[in-house]
Order: sequence, then C-alpha cells, then structure tokens
Amino acid sequence: MQRLNELYSGKAKTIYETDDDSQLIMYFRDDTSAFDGEKIDQLARKGMVNNHFNAFIMQHLETQGVPTHFNQLLSDTESAVKRLKMIPLECVIRNISTGSLCKRLGVEDGLDLKPPTFELFLKNDELHDPMVNEYHAETFGWASKAEVQRMTELTFKVNGILKKLFDDANLLLVDYKLEFGSQDGEIYLGDEFTPDGCRLWDKETREKLDKDRFRKGLGGVVEAYEEVALRLGVPLPK
Ligand code: 5GP
Repeated sequence: MQRLNELYSGKAKTIYETDDDSQLIMYFRDDTSAFDGEKIDQLARKGMVNNHFNAFIMQHLETQGVPTHFNQLLSDTESAVKRLKMIPLECVIRNISTGSLCKRLGVEDGLDLKPPTFELFLKNDELHDPMVNEYHAETFGWASKAEVQRMTELTFKVNGILKKLFDDANLLLVDYKLEFGSQDGEIYLGDEFTPDGCRLWDKETREKLDKDRFRKGLGGVVEAYEEVALRLGVPLPK
C-alpha cells in the first residue's frame, strides 16, 4: 500500500490517504498535548510505543468481537486502518471517579463507580469538548439514535474486555475515551486506544501510568506507557 497525501493532522497523529480508497494510514507522532492543545511537548519513542500499544489493544478487541478500524501494522509508527466517516462524539466510560467528573459534580476522587458511568462529549476543541446527550446528537445530526445506541453498547463491551485485560496486568482501568465511525453502514471503533486516551492506575499503589503524568507534570510519561506495555505483553522494539 502506498502512502499518498496528508488528509488530516491532529495533536498526536497524522492521517494519510493511500492508493486504496477504503484504507488510510495512521502515523503516530512523538507529539503530545493536553488542555485542548495549550500544553504541547515532544516525547521520544511515544509514537512508536503508542502505535504498537494501539495495535495490540485493537487486535485483542477484534478477537473478542468488537469491530475496529484496525487492519495492520505497517512500521513502528504507522498502521493501516479502514477509512471511516467519523462521528464527532467522544464516548467516555468511568469505572473510578476522577478528572472532569469530580470537577463537574463535586464528587470525591477515587470512588469505585457502580455501575460504571457513560458520558458523551462533542469533539470540538474551540468549545473545549462540551458534554452532550443523545438528544443533542440526533437534533444536530452528529449521530442517529441507533448509532448512539450502538456506540454505547460497544463502549460497554470494550469495558468488560479491557477491565479484565488490565486487571490481569495488575492495573486499574479508571476511565477512557473512544471514538467511532462508519463504513458501508457498519459502526467501527476508530481512532486509538493508548494511555493518551485512558487512565490506568497501578492496582496496589494507584500510581498513575497514563497521560495524567504529562497533564500534571509528573515526568516519566513514556516510561509509564512502556511499563504498561511490558505488563500487557505488547511486543515493543528495543
Ligand atoms: P476527563 O473527562 O476526566 O478529562 O477524561 C475522561 C477520560 O477520557 C480520560 O481517560 C481522558 O484521557 C479521556 N479523554 C477525554 N477527552 C479526551 C481528549 O480530547 N483526548 C484524549 N486523548 N483523551 C480524552
């Protein structure tokens, strides 16, 4: 497959068209950002770690029956994915209270949430990704009722699968964000699943091993991602 022109460049990935209309190339850069692009840095090896991490998780989800856009690894920093029409919504599941939930609702940090809670956000940096609901989605044409239903169902299915995967690696899956898109009328999990878009805590010490290390200036960001990858058995080049 041949990499053609750039289609879109986000905060950590660049998407390229290919000579196959149905596939795109996702290139994971070393860039990292937080607070809607206000805090930006470059972290060596991050693109490579996240590309391999994402491939491992997406392949695991596929084997467990979650339709994903992932096709194959192309290099240490590139993967081939299905070309999707992206739905501009972020689906968030929270197993433990932290982050914006605590700020918004004034609840204590670190509570086990039973049942886990689900939230929808509009993907819009200028508006700081405001929280929306399924009625907004339908009214403003971001997603149909059936699409929201399917995304919700798949996000919960992912929770069951990944909570177990991380638990077996002595990690707590605190919360995460998923994005979906469609191809030929089918909904697929798109974008990425990496420590950039989820929170992972060590089960015993509750040490943060995700992007909160960058957001909070704790250091050791890529080292933490590599620690998680090692515990999961993600094959990483030396
Ligand atoms: P919160 O709403 O607490 O900021 O985030 C909830 C979860 O979703 C966290 O795991 C966070 O990493 C992820 N998340 C929410 N919005 C974004 C986003 O715009 N980009 C990324 N990378 N992750 C997000």
